[in-house]
Amino acid sequence: MDIKNLEARVDEVIKSTQNLIGVGNVATYIPELANVDADNFGLAVVTVDRERVLRGDTELIFSMQSISKIISLIMALEDAGEEEVFSRVGTEATEYKFNSIRPIEDRAANPLINAGAITTASLIRGKDVDERFNRVVEKVKILSNSDEVTFLETVYNSEMQTTDINRSIAYYLKSKNIFSEDTEDVLDLYIRNCSIGINIEGLATIAAVLANGGMSLDGKTQLISKKVVKITLALMAACGMYEESGKYLMEVGFPSKSGVSGGIIGIVPGKCGICTYSPRLDGSGNSVRGKKILEELSNSLDLNIFI
Ligand code: GLU
Repeated sequence: MDIKNLEARVDEVIKSTQNLIGVGNVATYIPELANVDADNFGLAVVTVDRERVLRGDTELIFSMQSISKIISLIMALEDAGEEEVFSRVGTEATEYKFNSIRPIEDRAANPLINAGAITTASLIRGKDVDERFNRVVEKVKILSNSDEVTFLETVYNSEMQTTDINRSIAYYLKSKNIFSEDTEDVLDLYIRNCSIGINIEGLATIAAVLANGGMSLDGKTQLISKKVVKITLALMAACGMYEESGKYLMEVGFPSKSGVSGGIIGIVPGKCGICTYSPRLDGSGNSVRGKKILEELSNSLDLNIFI
């Protein structure tokens, strides 16, 4: 990608979306998420040729929340295999909210809603929760090519105190024999994963590795197998933006995943990874300004994968 053109387009969309500053609300159901400055903002694009454009609060560390569901899915596929994973969790989008208990009659609808990510967390190997979580953090460090990956304990503690819905989902899944591990351990790992702190550059780098077919950006190491990347990107396209996934795909046209802390990652295969951070959300839990930025970038840089 032409870096000068990329920089110019990025600066344009930051300007043209300024009318959205102040639109939407930060998530409050996890009390700690309400303690951020709602108008924090960051945008990072990392190309597969290792060019990068970083704007806004580049140093700011925020919790991955649902973006961690991508890592959990990748690790479950690597640890347990495709067949095992999809015997426990479905592959279809759902019209229900990310933390709804409804789409799990027999199993979770897909791995990118809470019930599905609780399921994939149960498939991550390790002798105890600490070992499993350390492996997840290590994976995030390797994929983001950064050590600036931390565990945000205040976010974790805050969610742990208000996570009755996720706890109910976990016990329900256990009662359906979706997993046999200790339910509190599985829930604990799921919430820890959501509480991993990272900056926009780290997330855009993870997105760029996925855009690069799982190959490290220096071209030396296959960090994720192509098969696992294919599955992950397909599910992100189908289910990555909560119950708005279809509409978002029509408007933006590449696989993405959002989280309730206000981050969105977008993957443009063969070209780049994008991360936006803007904590004000719409009713579905997607960042209002982030979504618009991804749509405008897609249009101005011709990033839609379908046409
Ligand atoms: N930790 C959040 C929850 O379980 C993640 C939700 C999200 O980002 O969609 O509710």
